[in-house]
Amino acid sequence: MTQKESYSSVLKKQLSMMDIKKKCCSYTFFSLDDVRKTADSSSLISDGYSKSRCDMCRSVFVRRLFMLYGSVTDPMKSYHLEFSFPFEKEREVSLSILEDCGFEFHETKRKNRFIAYTKSSEEIEQFLVFIGSSASAFDVMNSKIVHDFRNSVNRQVNCDTANIEKQLNAAKTQIEAIKYLEKTGRMEALTSDLRETADLRLANSQLSYSDLGKLMEPKVSKSGVKHRLDKLVEIYREAREKDR
Ligand SMILES: [Zn+2]
Repeated sequence: MTQKESYSSVLKKQLSMMDIKKKCCSYTFFSLDDVRKTADSSSLISDGYSKSRCDMCRSVFVRRLFMLYGSVTDPMKSYHLEFSFPFEKEREVSLSILEDCGFEFHETKRKNRFIAYTKSSEEIEQFLVFIGSSASAFDVMNSKIVHDFRNSVNRQVNCDTANIEKQLNAAKTQIEAIKYLEKTGRMEALTSDLRETADLRLANSQLSYSDLGKLMEPKVSKSGVKHRLDKLVEIYREAREKDR
C-alpha cells in the first residue's frame, strides 16, 4: 500500500492540470518559473505580479505562488492555509500581493521559514475559489456544515444528559423522602393524592413527571406531579427536622 497523499499535494496536482486560456495569464503564471533557481526570489515575485493584465492573471499568479510555497490542511481536520518562504522579503512582497487580491494573512516564523497563514474558514474558502479550485472550496463549506451539525448534536446531547441527571437526582431525594415518611408512620396522615403519588414514585423511580402523571387516575399534568412530589419532600424535611 502506498502512503495516502496529503490533501495539499492532491490539490496542487489538480491546480497544475488546470487550463490557462489567455496568453497574458499564462505569461503571468510562468513568470514564476525561475523562482527556485535564485536565492531570494522577492523581486521575481513582485515583478511577475506587476505584469498581470487581467483578473485572471492575478488569479493564476496567486495559484502558482500557492503551488510553489503554499499548503493547506484537510478542511475535515482543521482550517489552516499557509505560505512558507525561506526569505522574509519574499513573504513581505507576497503578503502585499495577497492583500491586493483581498486576503489578509497573519505572519509567524517557524524554524528558518517565514510563514504567512490564515485559519479563517471563510478566508480559506474564498482563497480556494480565487485560485480556481471550487472543488476544495466546497470541501471547506461541507466540513463547516458537518462541524456545525456535530456541534449542535453535541450541545443537544449535553443538555439532555444534564436534564436526565437533574431528574434522577430529584427522584432520588423523593424516594428517600417517601421511604422516611413510611418508616416513621406518617403516610397515613397524608392526602390520598399524595399517597398515590408516593406509591407511583416508589414503583417507578426513573419515570419523568409527565409519564408518572399519565399513570394516575385521573391523569395529572407534569406540573401537578412535580407539585405533589415537592410537597412530599417538604413534609419529609419538616418531619426530619422535628425528629432530630
Ligand atoms: Zn490575464
